[in-house]
Amino acid sequence: MPLTDLFATRTEGMKASEIRELLKLLDQPEVISFAGGIPDPTLFPREAYQRAMIDCTGSTEAASALQYAPSEGYLPLRQWIARYMAQYGVICGADNILITAGSQQALDYLGKLFLDAGDTVLVGWPTYLGALGAFNAYQPRYDRLDVATNQPPAALQDAAGGRVKFSYLSPDFANPTGVSLDLAERGRILDLADALDIAVVEDGAYQALRYSGDRLPPLLAIEQARKGDIDACRTIYCGSFSKTLAPGLRVGWVVAARPVIGQMVLLKQAADLQTATLNQMVTARVAEELFEPHVEQLRAVYGARLKAMLAALDRHMPDGVRWTRPEGGMFVWCQLPEGIDGADLLAQALATEKVAFVPGGAFFADGSNRNTLRLNFSMPNEAQIEEGITRLGRTLRVAMAA
Ligand code: PMP
Repeated sequence: MPLTDLFATRTEGMKASEIRELLKLLDQPEVISFAGGIPDPTLFPREAYQRAMIDCTGSTEAASALQYAPSEGYLPLRQWIARYMAQYGVICGADNILITAGSQQALDYLGKLFLDAGDTVLVGWPTYLGALGAFNAYQPRYDRLDVATNQPPAALQDAAGGRVKFSYLSPDFANPTGVSLDLAERGRILDLADALDIAVVEDGAYQALRYSGDRLPPLLAIEQARKGDIDACRTIYCGSFSKTLAPGLRVGWVVAARPVIGQMVLLKQAADLQTATLNQMVTARVAEELFEPHVEQLRAVYGARLKAMLAALDRHMPDGVRWTRPEGGMFVWCQLPEGIDGADLLAQALATEKVAFVPGGAFFADGSNRNTLRLNFSMPNEAQIEEGITRLGRTLRVAMAA
């Protein structure tokens, strides 16, 4: 019997992402790629990391930096995060915080914590593909979280056996749309969660990357202001240093009520004991030294790229194409005319114009809405954005004329 026949049924929902396969084709230098979703590596605070690494592995620190550490995470890092969250209106102690290996690990743990097979997760339509990937291992169903209408999801009424457990969303500059929720929408998400008696998983991965407009409070801050006590809150906030400092060290965090954190610490212990000690210590030092000024620099560079992309779209997109106008993050989302398939368009765009993007269908839990695409603006510079969007406009005109 092939070993694959012995794999657990939970693996059936796990498939190689269409996007990862496509990304392998993008190494050719002449391709202008809007397909990435990663920070510009030329902006990493490399020297600060280098100094912190040397400091932490120096004689006095090495004993702890190279040693096992508590599963909850390195205390000075949790204390820094508590101060950071306070700026956004979340008042919490270090014991409301768990350090994870990136926020992706937090998504996996939350699936493990809440989902029995057949339970339902409410997600945006579209939503972050990596969240679907993380939750899929726990065999949930998905239903649409519709903030515009705030209708209770259909699955609540007919969920055969399973229960709705949580909603998952990014209120700020979501991946893939770049769209943020306004204050009223944030309030409605919490109202719905109260009415359904479910948890809310708030993905704050892009929160700090705002380039225009006013800062809005995270869902957790709004809920805490309503309820007074963080330990009474149903919102579980997932944060990350990946988009602000560097993703390679894999340092993220969760802020939640203590009973949730307590159980997640047990999951962490069972899965990998702890997030790498040295990475946490180095991250704490770099964050302490330069987080705000560094993020200010990212905002200037990425903000200019977003502006360039919106201006290029205005100039070069044919009539019938619509796109979002984000105030931050890394992505702009395009809606193409009905009948234009994003994946077919990518094949055409790569072959004829050497420009790439991510087809949007993969971001829908049911694979629908194939006439969409995601454009990343954190990697290409302004000249590449202008040239790439010109090429994309040409590809679309040809596709729409066919
Ligand atoms: N959430 C969102 C919305 C993301 O886009 C990403 C990274 N692509 C993550 C979570 C995971 O990031 P990390 O694990 O590096 O913190």
